[in-house]
Amino acid sequence: MNLSKIRTGVYVCHCGTNIAATVDVAEVANFAKGLGGVAIARDYTYMCSDPGQELIKQDIQELGLNRVVVASCSPLMHEPTFRRACEEGGLNPFFFQMANIREHCSWVVDDRSQATSKAKSLVAAAVRRVHHHNPLTMRQVEMTPAALVVGGGIAGIEAALKMADAGKQVYLVEREPSIGGHMAQLYKTFPTLDCAA
Ligand code: SF4
Repeated sequence: MNLSKIRTGVYVCHCGTNIAATVDVAEVANFAKGLGGVAIARDYTYMCSDPGQELIKQDIQELGLNRVVVASCSPLMHEPTFRRACEEGGLNPFFFQMANIREHCSWVVDDRSQATSKAKSLVAAAVRRVHHHNPLTMRQVEMTPAALVVGGGIAGIEAALKMADAGKQVYLVEREPSIGGHMAQLYKTFPTLDCAA
């Protein structure tokens, strides 16, 4: 997409003091204002709170944002929250990118200036990345819960047995006439001296 058409909102979360005690969040937000395509950059105490999500929705509608970046915690924790906020604001939820400045930054870097500098880099990368996102729609499809294991050596056999024990249908494929791989060529195994075959 042409950069002149990009309008990105960047939201830098304090997470109370979890992030703000180590990262200069105001400086990161100021830095983000200077990045290409950024229309607004704010820092806020708790981005996942209702008022935090409301900020995003309002900005999408009032400022015509077409990309959103939240710099906060791990996407494992709140990516669905912010995608939903984008959607409720009227934006495709996949025009969103999260930068993890808590687990990857304030929780692991002690020095404030280094933590702030790393947070800026992560935000800059997220802003660049979100430019390239495409609108996506989610759909559910029927699937067959079967697995194909390629290679009937000891690892393949073990993997196939584990999945079969878990109730899955498993197809084990081996190019040689028999399974067992290198293991089957051994005479005895250490330390029990069991027959390898
Ligand atoms: S979005 Fe994540 S980093 Fe921000 S307040 Fe919520 S849990 Fe903390």
